[in-house]
Amino acid sequence: ALVGSTDAAIASGSTLLPIEEIARRMGIGRGALQLHGDHIAKVDVGAIDGFADRPEGKLILVTAMTPTPAGEGKTTTVVGLGDGLRRVGVSAAIALREPSLGPVFGMKGGATGGGYAQVVPMEDINLHFTGDFHAVGAANNLLAAMVDNHIFHGNALELDPARISWRRAVDINDRQLRSIVDGLGGPKSGVPRDDGFEITVASEVMAILCLSRDLRELKAKLERIIVGFTTDDRPVTAGDLKAHGAMAALLKDAIRPNLVQTLEHTPAFIHGGPFANIAHGCNTVAATRLALKHADYVVTEAGFGADLGAEKFIDIKARMCGLTPAATVVVATLRSLKMHGGVAAADLAREDLDALEAGLPNLLRHVENMTEVFGVPTVVALNVFPTDTAAELERVELRCRALGVSVVLSEVWARGGAGAEELAHEVITLAEQPSTLEYAYELEDTIVTKIEKVVTRIYGGADVSFTLDAQEQLTRLERLGFGQLPICMAKTQYSFSDDATLRGRPEEFTVTVRNLKISAGAGFIVVLTGTILTMPGLPKVPAAETIGITDDGRITGLF
Ligand code: ADP
Ligand code: MG
Repeated sequence: ALVGSTDAAIASGSTLLPIEEIARRMGIGRGALQLHGDHIAKVDVGAIDGFADRPEGKLILVTAMTPTPAGEGKTTTVVGLGDGLRRVGVSAAIALREPSLGPVFGMKGGATGGGYAQVVPMEDINLHFTGDFHAVGAANNLLAAMVDNHIFHGNALELDPARISWRRAVDINDRQLRSIVDGLGGPKSGVPRDDGFEITVASEVMAILCLSRDLRELKAKLERIIVGFTTDDRPVTAGDLKAHGAMAALLKDAIRPNLVQTLEHTPAFIHGGPFANIAHGCNTVAATRLALKHADYVVTEAGFGADLGAEKFIDIKARMCGLTPAATVVVATLRSLKMHGGVAAADLAREDLDALEAGLPNLLRHVENMTEVFGVPTVVALNVFPTDTAAELERVELRCRALGVSVVLSEVWARGGAGAEELAHEVITLAEQPSTLEYAYELEDTIVTKIEKVVTRIYGGADVSFTLDAQEQLTRLERLGFGQLPICMAKTQYSFSDDATLRGRPEEFTVTVRNLKISAGAGFIVVLTGTILTMPGLPKVPAAETIGITDDGRITGLF
């Protein structure tokens, strides 16, 4: 049915309801809305009456097995499951991240789902949306400007120009800005130093926005940001520079959740978008909580595979913000199973029952992590692609059932919410089971123990080794008093291990920690297990080459 119809064509053929109507159905009145046209609104959390007294709905976390570079369909599943839950008669909303312009114009494309499971208006959501990311970039760059201005005007705080860790930000993939020298142009034009940009979604301000329940928390976290160190190794903060108030002022609208709808008129809160490697990779806590107050079921997504996204969702966001997922959905695809079963990228579309079986251990480890380490009831959603054969789908279903793993075919891409009714029923059943959320580590554990627990309990590795740099940083972070913070693992998303080529369910491997970085504002320690780029580049043929706009204002080529 979908042959020849692109995501954009499906989206533009849909009829949207006025966003006021979507809000009204959830019990959010006009007074709490800041309208951006007919189909997008920001919601003023403070203006909602009775907000505090309403019981919260059940939170459903969508995650995935170790992905292929194409993505396994988490966002698409979130959208379709939200629609499916409403079809089977419960009130539901979804909570997703905002797309970054980096992937939109780079390789991956937008992040609004696909086929008949999309959020709309997709061209607005994918292009600037309500300007939140630009506000984050502005707040980030205001702090950068105040850092260099402070040095220029005498450097009373004795900030060491060689130890400034705060970088500038822009929401475009621009490798040219990764490492730069600025402050050139003579004594009146600043102080020359090595500097660089990161993509806005990789900035600590983005992580802070996403982990702040309200303005009070936002200001407190911004104040704690460490911009660099003095020559005698004392941290200098945004608070020391008196920058946090103005940064928070710039974020006054960005902190308000954005409300849109799915093709089937399910309310969709799309808000915030931190990287899933050097940050925690899920939408804002403000939007998640707002959704939970106005729907019985809220479906949300955590980036990358469950070893990264779901682990950080639970160990960082859920713990820090008092959230408890009632069930998780682990998205699996035949192509990803085959890849973990040893099939080369070019052959993933060919039927191969043996490779499917060989790839299953990867999926099973993710499921075990969810149920046994975190204690959350879990179902596998097998995301059906047009090229999948019945024999292949049946094989995976049979094998999972034989192993006692709940598995449901999900056809949301081809059929929208109708393709997720069975999944919705299973999710409701699981969410009603009593469960107790556990964490992979305790905050009181030492930093080393925290890392060891994630590596052995979640990744299935044998050991952790620390480079000399990492060992020095460990001692330093404990000395500075950051030992009790949660850890944010930065690791390849293509393997349970830190080696992207190690597929399936590897064992006996050692993870090497190369360095650690403190995000004192966001409130976590980033554990770097490889070279993590915080400013991606564009591919040889970027998506930007095919994106355009007609003379009458219609966006073309967006996917
Ligand atoms: P993730 O959130 O896991 O990265 P997405 O939901 O964004 O993945 O999906 C990645 C891409 O795959 C999107 O372009 C989406 O339209 C497409 N896609 C997802 N599910 C299917 C499917 N069942 N059939 C065909 N294409 C799909
Ligand atoms: Mg996604």
